[in-house]
Amino acid sequence: VGERGERLAASSIEMKGLHKRFGNDAVALNGVDLTIRAGEFFTLLGPSGCGKTTLLRILAGLEEADDGTLIIGGKDVTEEPPHRRSVNTVFQSYALFPHLSVRENLAFGLKMRGVGAQEREAKVAEVANLIQLGELVDRRIDQLSGGQRQRIALARALVCEPDVLLLDEPLSALDAGLRSQLQVELLRVQKRLGMTFVFVTHDQQEAMVMSDRIAVLNDGNIQQIGSPREIYETPINVFVARFMGHDNLYAITEREGCRVTTPVGTLELEGGSEGEFVLIRPETLDLKLGHVAGTNHLPGRITERLYRGSHAEYRIAIGATSLQATVNNRGHHLPDVGDEVTLVVSSEDLVTLSE
Ligand code: ATP
Repeated sequence: VGERGERLAASSIEMKGLHKRFGNDAVALNGVDLTIRAGEFFTLLGPSGCGKTTLLRILAGLEEADDGTLIIGGKDVTEEPPHRRSVNTVFQSYALFPHLSVRENLAFGLKMRGVGAQEREAKVAEVANLIQLGELVDRRIDQLSGGQRQRIALARALVCEPDVLLLDEPLSALDAGLRSQLQVELLRVQKRLGMTFVFVTHDQQEAMVMSDRIAVLNDGNIQQIGSPREIYETPINVFVARFMGHDNLYAITEREGCRVTTPVGTLELEGGSEGEFVLIRPETLDLKLGHVAGTNHLPGRITERLYRGSHAEYRIAIGATSLQATVNNRGHHLPDVGDEVTLVVSSEDLVTLSE
């Protein structure tokens, strides 16, 4: 794999009209249409129960869709059993053999595929090198930490050189430090191998860091597909915006010419009509001391300041509502709780979205 610098074959994935229902009332997938490009790091993001795992299991062939078509690498695999698909899965629960060594765990899948001893050894050595397992290869699984086991689970999935790797919350059991370390490692491996990764998470920060593109799911429906920046900066509806961590969402109650009325005041804004929402990203706001009049100038009072070192997060009361603002700490004066301030936002930073 890695040492010779050669790339594995990557496959595109096409899903058309995938439906899945459990029993009479639980609709897990409600018509999913999605194309994942070959070599892409693609993330399925959504809250618990939105259908992420079900979709992954259908890709793996572990679950059958009630309706729809699945094409992997140009081949219709809708009816194919798991072992006839060049797809491998890393699950959250590692499913390793605890009393076998790492080496034996890695070689197991290859042995099942009838790969000879010499080739097995070579492939295991390559992957061990790629994931930088070092002396861990001769330890038993039950002598490893959770983070180490997670890396072995990843290595074991990679050793069979699938065209597509499915990863179901592979990092969720790890503590924050180890998690961000493995995020970097996973990305590095994926880019180096050029393999197609389909990654499942409910963590929007993780999705943004890792992904080429993200699909946000809710109730078995895809809400939006796009790059991390597209999803974060221009969410198409309130669900996606909230899920991406946005709080400054205000209903447009009236439009008059180029101005709209919202709970935080009157804003000059091109798009957006009554019944839609406007999103004000906290990092796009300028904060001026005192009350200053002007277009898209919102007067308010600071009710909360969270000092984060590199920046400060503010909550500012405006009329009967409030707004969040982020201010970079460049060493100048950081306004404090109780200060009267004016928030300034430029029209092009405002995003309108549907309910
Ligand atoms: P989580 O992040 O909690 O794992 P998820 O997004 O992966 O959630 P799924 O596991 O795909 O969600 O479940 C989607 C819906 O289908 C849920 O309402 C769930 O209860 C239901 N469901 C999933 N598997 C089964 C099953 N085997 N039997 C009955 N209902 C199921």
